[in-house]
Amino acid sequence: MRPGILFVLSGASGVGKGTIRSRLREQVPDVYHSVSVTSRAPRPGEREGADYFFRSREQVEAMARAGELIEWVEYVGNYYGIPRRPVDEKLARGRDVILEPETRGAKAVARLYPQAVLIFVIPPSLEALEKRLRTRRTETEETIRARLARAREEMQELHLYQYCILNDDAQRAAQDLVAIVRAERCQMSRVGPEMKRRILGE
Ligand code: 5GP
Repeated sequence: MRPGILFVLSGASGVGKGTIRSRLREQVPDVYHSVSVTSRAPRPGEREGADYFFRSREQVEAMARAGELIEWVEYVGNYYGIPRRPVDEKLARGRDVILEPETRGAKAVARLYPQAVLIFVIPPSLEALEKRLRTRRTETEETIRARLARAREEMQELHLYQYCILNDDAQRAAQDLVAIVRAERCQMSRVGPEMKRRILGE
């Protein structure tokens, strides 16, 4: 059995990763969506264990100390981290996994999992991103500014990624992600040897 493929989906806060992710879930339901821990307060409508595991700063620090996180960062005043165990278990069982870290997290993941497929979602413009963050009405003015500044910095890291998805239309952007997942699943290096064995009975 081939190990699962690890997909890393980065992109500024507010770029629409959530919408793209839920469309992927509809069309390719067997990809496991890793749920991160965060010390950020839940936004209206966010659910514990579905959007994030909401924990105190101390709890996230304790998890990091215990080696329970693949990586963790502080982003605009809050901690975010990827729980290790579910990801490793799923990959070992051949299940594909998708993570959504920002760029520093993506770098750490790429170091630890060199086969990971790195995808970056970009907004049509920084103005469009700002508009999205504002219409969401979940952020203070200060947080919006800090998030926009981070978005600008993160654009400097595009070269780390193999794929770029422009989210000017959520439907099409989701189709791009589905296409990337399907193409990666067909990579000869991943499935060729297993297919050959199956067909030739070797
Ligand atoms: P938000 O507060 O908007 O949900 O997330 C803020 C940023 O943190 C986004 O860029 C999001 O992709 C990123 N993020 C979410 N979970 C993690 C994580 O586990 N690790 C890292 N490094 N970034 C994360």
